[in-house]
Amino acid sequence: MSTRTNPNIVVTGTPGTGKTTHCELLAERIPSLRHVSVNQIVKDKECHEGWDDEFQSWIVDEDKLLDELEKEVADGGCILDWHACDLFPQRWIDLVVVLRTDSTTLYDRLTARNYPEAKLQENLDTEIMEVLLQEAKDSYDEEIVVELRSDETEEMDANVERIEAWVKQWKEDHRG
Ligand code: ADP
Ligand code: MN
Repeated sequence: MSTRTNPNIVVTGTPGTGKTTHCELLAERIPSLRHVSVNQIVKDKECHEGWDDEFQSWIVDEDKLLDELEKEVADGGCILDWHACDLFPQRWIDLVVVLRTDSTTLYDRLTARNYPEAKLQENLDTEIMEVLLQEAKDSYDEEIVVELRSDETEEMDANVERIEAWVKQWKEDHRG
């Protein structure tokens, strides 16, 4: 049992499924939670071993990243925005939200971002093969893993409301 007074939530999913948009909305709606962009920490604290040009992404130094994140999550209240989740120890996390997007919609979103072909294909495959969902189920108790659709704005609003209700309940359950 943790001593956190606020929960830590992971919002994960294939790039383009809406992680950052969801995290920003959640942080706006729930003052006790803050958006932690893991990508930003990788960059700012240099938790990487350089840049992969083909995939246009950092080669992450996981040990260094975990050290940085440990300070962030200690008191709870983090919404961790990251395209993976097997890195975070189970004891840190109270809820894992896996966002899912229809492949046509995802294709359009990633094309709009000018992703290089290799990265675009890899991400579409990742979404179709449910890689993140499986990773979440393998890394955490299934009861804390929630799969949510993120094709349309209405779904995003409903997701945020649902998570907000979950946080409220968590706080009631952990009042002491
Ligand atoms: P991620 O952080 O997972 O890469 P973003 O939050 O940056 O994804 O979203 C990618 C793009 O898709 C943004 O333009 C965002 O506005 C749009 N988007 C994400 N989720 C939805 C949704 N549920 N409905 C409509 N547009 C969405
Ligand atoms: Mn993002």
